[in-house]
Amino acid sequence: MQKFATRDSKNSTDYFYNIKADLPELPEPPLHPGEKRPINKDDLLPLFPEGFIKHETTLEEKVPIPQKVLDVLSMYRPTPLVYADGLKKYLDTPAHIFFKYEGAGPTGSHKSNTAIVQAYLAAEEGVKRMSTETGAGQWGSALSMACSSYGIDLSVFMVRISYRQKPGRRIMMEMFGADVFESPGNRTDAGKKFFAEDPEHPGSLGIAISEAIELAIKDEGTKYSLGSVLDSVLLHQTVIGQEAEKQMKEFGLEPDIIIGCVGGGSNFAGLSFPFIGKNLKENRNIKFYAVEPEVCPTMTKGELRYDFGDSSGMTPLLYMYTLGKDFVPPPIHAGGLRYHGMAPLVSHMQKKEYVDSVSFPEPDVFNAANVFLRTEGILPAPESAHAIAKVIEEAEKAKAENKEKVILFNLSGHGFFDINAYSKNNK
Ligand SMILES: *Cc1c(COP(=O)(O)O)cnc(C)c1O
Repeated sequence: MQKFATRDSKNSTDYFYNIKADLPELPEPPLHPGEKRPINKDDLLPLFPEGFIKHETTLEEKVPIPQKVLDVLSMYRPTPLVYADGLKKYLDTPAHIFFKYEGAGPTGSHKSNTAIVQAYLAAEEGVKRMSTETGAGQWGSALSMACSSYGIDLSVFMVRISYRQKPGRRIMMEMFGADVFESPGNRTDAGKKFFAEDPEHPGSLGIAISEAIELAIKDEGTKYSLGSVLDSVLLHQTVIGQEAEKQMKEFGLEPDIIIGCVGGGSNFAGLSFPFIGKNLKENRNIKFYAVEPEVCPTMTKGELRYDFGDSSGMTPLLYMYTLGKDFVPPPIHAGGLRYHGMAPLVSHMQKKEYVDSVSFPEPDVFNAANVFLRTEGILPAPESAHAIAKVIEEAEKAKAENKEKVILFNLSGHGFFDINAYSKNNK
């Protein structure tokens, strides 16, 4: 079996795949936080560029990727699709294991895919500054890179626990020219509240989102940018699954099982939605697993209902699996998976039983990362290692059943900036 699929532009795509065009039933709409009616474009205009709002609301199946976005994406896309023969041998499994390596992007995760689109859409409308939150720092780095490509300033609110644990990410953002603030802090009303209670508050994505939104609302020249959860962000990530499908054809195989980790749901959606489209339209029978940490069990233990996307109740109400907006997850090392909610579209997929979710405890996740490093030579992001834990379980199941299953998973990022996390835990 060859090791890599071709990274030629013939395996790229020039459109985003919009699964909403193929769904028999659409998810419940986002509601205005005060008036509890479906939100409209005017509600979103103070926060987001108009082009972005179009991506959020369109029902068109194939959304064209602007040429200037393709020019930047082609720096690193298509990303590698790799046949994990080292892992296969180690597990002594008849399963074929493939991973899509999104860590090959410029800042080491899939987040560049939407960051580049969002910065471009803002620049086109003359936006001068963007504001955002970041957990582990991957999103902040991705948007810093994208803003610097299109000449936009950026303010990043970084969850305190990650700010302290991952100074490398902060330095990288600053090298791209971004201003980075520890969250919660006392720059915004939303931050002050928590900061006053506890200046060492570990922070959460929900709180950092409130801070970034407040900045955009108070300053007309600033637009807000979100790295996950929204329909448009998931849409931008579908380049992953479209490429993977073309690349797998080179191996003459099609996936039976697709696995991705879930924080807000975007990398999982990016890989799986084009394939869920096949299940819906071509009657295929691919199984999908969304994998989350046991201590932040949004899909496995959360409730499906309307809830706020942030902690202060400033965002629209989203119909999603949620642990409640006040849930502050313990400070695990997979900072990107510490979010109380789940993308409404991914939530809908579970409600309709198109996908399944599972959770793993941190020791299993670190073990999976270690096995992967030693067998495939790549240190995975702690987030991505959640997906690997499930891959190992499925590969072992295939062995027990003696079945040649084809497993495809998303290696959403590398863990080279997370090395401290591994040194403390990986005994
Ligand atoms: C942010 C991040 C995640 C979680 O976010 P999703 O929107 O669920 O994809 C997972 N893996 C990596 C490497 C990340 O940076």
